[in-house]
Amino acid sequence: MHGGPRARTIPAGPVGDGHVANNTDQQGPRPPDLVGEDALAASETLRDRAVGALLGCAVGDAIGELAFTHASKDRLQAAVARAQHLVYTDDTAMAIAVANALVEDGLIHAQALGDRFARGFQLEPWRGYGPGPPAIFKTVAETGRAYEEVARELYGGEGSLGNGAAMRAAPLGVAYRDTERLPAACDTASAVTHAHPVGRDAALLVARAVGQAIEAAIEGRRIRPHALAQHLTDGCRSEEMRHKMQAVTDYLEAGAQAEAVADAVGRSVSAPESVPFAVYAFLATPDDFEACLDTAALHGGDRDTLAAMAGSIAGAYLGEPAIPAPWRSRIEHRCQLRELARRLADAFPDSARAAAAQ
Ligand SMILES: [Mg+2]
Repeated sequence: MHGGPRARTIPAGPVGDGHVANNTDQQGPRPPDLVGEDALAASETLRDRAVGALLGCAVGDAIGELAFTHASKDRLQAAVARAQHLVYTDDTAMAIAVANALVEDGLIHAQALGDRFARGFQLEPWRGYGPGPPAIFKTVAETGRAYEEVARELYGGEGSLGNGAAMRAAPLGVAYRDTERLPAACDTASAVTHAHPVGRDAALLVARAVGQAIEAAIEGRRIRPHALAQHLTDGCRSEEMRHKMQAVTDYLEAGAQAEAVADAVGRSVSAPESVPFAVYAFLATPDDFEACLDTAALHGGDRDTLAAMAGSIAGAYLGEPAIPAPWRSRIEHRCQLRELARRLADAFPDSARAAAAQ
């Protein structure tokens, strides 16, 4: 979310039949039980994709934030080139908290995650937080109530349907992939600040896309954008998100221009008006991290969060080397982000264990 100018086992079908560029030695889907060198290769791929997801989030977040004040491709490239460091915002700060919770606690516990979010805000309040989470942190600190309960009281008792739960959801997709345990973990992580069912559904969409991207990479399969879009559409639980994702699916099949898609599905801080476009930004050019980020960051709206979400999914699919070196070498805390992502991958080495852990 942009808080202001101050900072501010998929079925075999949906994800395709080809090969990811750096997994060209595999023919078809892997068997479910990996042994020996296969298991080692899978765990290295998982590590790389976990790093790609977190660095992709941070790079997208930082570059998307710059795009608020450098809104054309040329100006944005010049601004990125001039920047000594690329500085991420609340999106990545909160994704780091989710990843740390998964690594250190082994699962998502709402109150413990809320405390992590609150500590992050206290340490770095300048990272462009929107108004909702800090108000929740303050009320919980003063009253000792549950984060989820306070979050439900926002916005007339409906809770926030902003994209703030979706923007930090990538680590959940890394840990739980697209397993049956993912929805519950996502809902628990989301409800700490975003109680509205559509806001939670948006977080599940991002996490599921990340999970699908990682599974495809590990299995050496190339994503088929339209098929994955349809799979993600079918997985939406709310009518709002399903409607928008069906539109994305249809636009992908029709080969529509990004501008037309952005106008049709939206790009605001509201979850159903930005999360589907972020998913589109990845699916439009799934093999090109830079093009994905251009689509996400250069069509207006909630640029940092759009690019953070799109960058997470692209990084999860393509891995760290696909993120342009001048970008990933200048993102702040890159060594810590890389180490945290590797620990996350090692803590959740496969979908079966992820399912058992929650
Ligand atoms: Mg932000």
